[in-house]
Amino acid sequence: EVKKREKNGHLLFSNELDKRILERLELENDLRKAVQRQELVLHYQPQISTKNSRMIGVEALVRWKHPVRGMISPVVFVPIAEESGMILEIGTWVLREACLQMSRWHQAGGPLIPVSVNLSAQQFHHSNLVDAVKSILLETGLQPQYLELEITEGMMMDHAVSSAILQEISELGVRISLDDFGTGYSSLSYLKQFPIHKLKIDRSFITDITNNPSDQAIVATIISMANHLKLDVIAEGIETKDQLDILTEKECREIQGYYFSKPLPANEVEESFFVPQRIPV
Ligand code: C2E
Ligand code: MG
Ligand code: MG
Ligand code: MG
Repeated sequence: EVKKREKNGHLLFSNELDKRILERLELENDLRKAVQRQELVLHYQPQISTKNSRMIGVEALVRWKHPVRGMISPVVFVPIAEESGMILEIGTWVLREACLQMSRWHQAGGPLIPVSVNLSAQQFHHSNLVDAVKSILLETGLQPQYLELEITEGMMMDHAVSSAILQEISELGVRISLDDFGTGYSSLSYLKQFPIHKLKIDRSFITDITNNPSDQAIVATIISMANHLKLDVIAEGIETKDQLDILTEKECREIQGYYFSKPLPANEVEESFFVPQRIPV
């Protein structure tokens, strides 16, 4: 039984659970208006070449500037968006915004690098995905080879369906990368069956890599497998010089992590990483 009473215009709830349910409902309601009210923003995290420390791509990561609660992490609101069906609208907004930003950067003489966009499972399986991607590319003027879509292993459980979708996306000239690689349940056979271009080694294998021989072995194996399969590979979550050194020694060509940069608003990416492309030390 939900016991509540009114006091000074506030609802008081009998217990912690009720409070959390109410909070979740409020967030869900606010999220419905967030797109229209332009409260969502994209930050971009530079992806860096271990060879020359240059920015070779960016990952678009969504944030919600809540008018009262401040900046809300996608870890909090993307699951709410997924459960409430809002993820399609939000995902489409993210895709358009990321493509538009990269297209503008290209037109303004910025580096010719790709933008990576995370897809949710629902987006990936929605029948309209390929058409949406196609029309967003046309609308924003971004060339397809500069768009990369991130999916996770779990999304490929239904092989027949995923195979068809990935094929169509790939035929557009858009690249596919496997996010959080190594953490999902799946066989490796899809790596040869499906048009996948890049593996993103999950941060969980990087965190303790300097001390943990198992993590070192796993990461070395993923890199080697990627090389054999002619896939690109990037390591996520590099925070220290020691981690970078290990990755470089293992010939990982690309890395992403706080050591080089947190995800940044577009203007800060320009300030810190555009001409001359130099990493601030
Ligand atoms: P992800 O796609 O694996 O993104 C990487 C996350 O790791 C980002 O968190 C990023 O800020 C964080 N990160 C990067 N480098 C480091 C590091 O060195 N140390 C640590 N501790 N963290 C690092 P963020 O932005 O909070 O996003 C979390 C997750 O939310 C993403 O994981 C992705 O699964 C999801 N997400 C973010 N944006 C979107 C989006 O536009 N659409 C969808 N469907 N999901 C999104
Ligand atoms: Mg990602
Ligand atoms: Mg992810
Ligand atoms: Mg990831």
